[in-house]
Amino acid sequence: ATSNGSGSGRIANGSPSKVAARPGMITGGRKRPAGSAGGSAAGAPTSVLADTKTKISRLKNIDAKLANMILNEVMIDGATVTWDDIAGLAFAKQALKEIVILPALRPELFTGLRAPAKGVLLFGPPGTGKTMLAKAVSQESKSTFFSISASSLTSKFVGESEKLVRALFAIAQELQPSVIFIDEVDSILTERSENEHEASRRLKTEFLLQFDGTGSNPDDRVLVMGATNRPQELDEAARRRFVKRIYIPLPEAETRRGLLTKLLAGQDYQISSSEMQKLVLYTEGYSGSDMTALAKDAALGPLRSLGETLLDTPADQVRPIQFQDFVQALQTIRPSVSPQSLLAFEEWNRDYGAGV
Ligand code: ADP
Repeated sequence: ATSNGSGSGRIANGSPSKVAARPGMITGGRKRPAGSAGGSAAGAPTSVLADTKTKISRLKNIDAKLANMILNEVMIDGATVTWDDIAGLAFAKQALKEIVILPALRPELFTGLRAPAKGVLLFGPPGTGKTMLAKAVSQESKSTFFSISASSLTSKFVGESEKLVRALFAIAQELQPSVIFIDEVDSILTERSENEHEASRRLKTEFLLQFDGTGSNPDDRVLVMGATNRPQELDEAARRRFVKRIYIPLPEAETRRGLLTKLLAGQDYQISSSEMQKLVLYTEGYSGSDMTALAKDAALGPLRSLGETLLDTPADQVRPIQFQDFVQALQTIRPSVSPQSLLAFEEWNRDYGAGV
């Protein structure tokens, strides 16, 4: 059993305090991205890491090499995304709070019929914030975060993928509460076909076995979060395990405005509110990552306009980013999601989405 210690009593109107030490939080081992929300965690990294290593070394049948690989490449220390970093997606945030965060913070309230889901699927077009949401969930629920893409399981860990899956679930269980995030989950959980490789069949079987194992003890607090851009490829067995299936759509107008404002914050720019309104309209159909690419390209506009003089223009003489720079960028940065694929997502959402 895990102690709730610092976790309980923290919750205030569903908004847990932001950066608190998490029970299973590991620091060190993996590079912390610059500007991460950390700081407070800088205190005792080595002892936490040592503690984790001791816990893991107690696990029987786990190859030390695999355990290290998981510690170094799959476990992410102090996931650095909070709800506020994610523009829009109010519906998804609300659903995740209810399904995952509150049960993680107040496990004693969520038992029996209220027992939390063990599997959550985020589906929708690429670049819409699914990975960010998973990170925020782990941060806000003070869980240890494991993140792996299914394609790296089948390519990078080829030959060892089943063992890795087994080790991953065992370690996640040891360091619970944990979130195991599997990106591109469709590539291990596709509909079985006649000519499926033996290896991928075994991997799928192992994954489902482990997934079911996490659900067998109601006190275990290991959540599997899958993300996919191809939900149609999931078979019935996979759908059944991901009890909650949340659609993460393209950003709506207000969200695109929020994204643009966030992206431009701290930059030198001169864009009127009516120009901003136009940009919001012009970017209909752009994903969050398309918006990021667009703003990055627009931000180069002032430098491009310097031409040859770029090399000797003082930084404070560079003009602000303007509407025109975005108009220019819109020519080259096009939306990456086709209208047909959107229709397919919406259809799948109608058939299988949480629709809360
Ligand atoms: P997905 O997992 O859905 O493919 P990600 O979560 O990896 O997408 O998002 C890719 C990038 O796009 C992020 O790093 C961020 O820069 C940007 N982005 C996407 N959606 C959002 C959002 N809702 N709010 C803020 N940034 C976003």
